[in-house]
This record gives sequence, C-alpha cells and structure tokens, in this order.
Amino acid sequence: MIQPIKRLGQNFLQDPNTIRKIVDSLEAPPSARVIEIGPGTGALTGLLASKYADFSAIELDPRAVEYLSGHLPGVQVIQGDVLDMDWREKASGAPGGRVSVIGNLPYYITSQILFGLLDAAPHISEAVIMMQHEVAARLVAQPRTKEYGILSVAVQLECVPRLMFPVSRNVFYPKPDVKSAIVRLEFPPDAPKSLVDPKALRRIIRTAFNQRRKTLRNSLSVVLGEFGKQLPSHLESKRAEELTPHDFVELTIYLTGTD
Ligand code: SAM
Repeated sequence: MIQPIKRLGQNFLQDPNTIRKIVDSLEAPPSARVIEIGPGTGALTGLLASKYADFSAIELDPRAVEYLSGHLPGVQVIQGDVLDMDWREKASGAPGGRVSVIGNLPYYITSQILFGLLDAAPHISEAVIMMQHEVAARLVAQPRTKEYGILSVAVQLECVPRLMFPVSRNVFYPKPDVKSAIVRLEFPPDAPKSLVDPKALRRIIRTAFNQRRKTLRNSLSVVLGEFGKQLPSHLESKRAEELTPHDFVELTIYLTGTD
C-alpha cells in the first residue's frame, strides 16, 4: 500500500462489490480501447485490464505508478497529468476512433477533467466516473432546479448523463468528507457538428449563470453590447435557469449571426 496524499484526492476504494459495480457500468465491448484516470493502488485496474486487452491508465503520483508496476506487471500505466491528456491522439487507431474512459476521479479537478472530456467529445464513446454526489446531481439537473447550471448545460449539450448509483463514504480509505456517486456519460456517435462557435456559447452560458437570479436582459447586458444585438423579446425577462441547453445554442446562433 502507499500512504494516501489528500492534496492528490487519494481516497482508495476498498469494497469489491462497489468495484465490480463500477466496472460493470462500462458498456464498452471487450474490443474497446479503455483508459482509466487515476488508478491509484489499482482497485479498478486489475479487473479492467483482465476485461479489456487494449487498456491503459494515467496516474500523476509516481509512487502509485511504481506500486502498480510491481503488483500488476504488464499493465500499461503512464505517469502524467490527465489534464494534459490529448484525447484525440489517444483515440487514434481505436475502434471507431473513440475511447471509453473510466475513473474514480481526484475530486479537486473534477470539473476540469469533465470539460477536457467535453472538448474531446468526438473522440470519446462513454465515460464512467466517480465524483462528488453534489456534482453528479448538477450534471443531470433539469432547468428550473437549483442544481441546474453551467455544468448541466455544458454536459447535456455533448452527451447523455445518467446517475448510476450513490457510493457510501464507508467504502473508501481514507473516508472522503463528501458523498459520492457514479455517473455514466454516453457520447452519441456521429453527433452532428454544431454550427455554433463553442467559445461564444461557453461565454454566454457562463455570463448568464454568473448572475442567475437576474433576467437575461441584465445578466447578459455586456455580452449583448459586444455583439451589438438585443435579446429576442421572448427571452428578455427569462433567467438563465429557465433556458434548456438547446435554448442556449439557439441564443448563441442568434447573437453571433450576421444579419
Ligand atoms: N482508482 C483508485 C481507487 O479507486 O481506489 C484511486 C482513486 S483516487 C480518488 C484518485 C487518483 O487520481 C489518485 O490515485 C491520484 O493520485 C490520481 N490523480 C490525482 N491527480 C491526478 C492528475 N492530475 N492526473 C492523473 N491522476 C491524478
């Protein structure tokens, strides 16, 4: 075993039933290319490597990489930062040009990892990930709820998120301070390429939700000025939390359009 380091988000899974349920949540066929984020001491890794021939893992902590090379010889574990991962390159040569991702995430960078996966959506087929329960609830949240926000819209525009099951704090060592959950993200194959400018879309979503209590006329006033446009009248008195992900796309097309 290695001594867990809190700042690396190291909470190691201890319960074989939970481990099996997580691995079974991955729907990838045995021929898929599977990548694990943060294998740590290998709770999920052995089972994954026995199920998938084309398997590798990326781990930041060199102590864990060394531990795994002794305990799971032959399993490819790359020492590196998942935030530097080039998913497009990783998916090159994989079946359908896409990879399946799995991981009990380091919670201090959950959002950054998620946004990295969303940016690489065409190269990902599914992701089964453990995260804070509270974050999981935001991913699947519907408009007009308090959990609905930037993450809900960004995720639901690229994939179909499903809350699989909650995970008790008691199955980890050390016990995390928060409750956890497994989420499965399914990325639709051959998703039509949206004609919308992704940077403008993200800026509009962020700006609208940064002042989520205000009407869009107020929360988006600066952005509207920059685009030199008025809001369509049916949106003027709406708030960010009332718009569906699709509404944000329509709004971005309207604001960035040249008419
Ligand atoms: N998969 C193991 C398990 O379920 O027991 C460990 C999960 S632990 C919650 C998160 C793992 O991610 C740790 O092993 C940690 O060292 C690793 N990690 C932290 N930051 C990382 C990063 N930026 N890139 C890759 N791995 C990272």
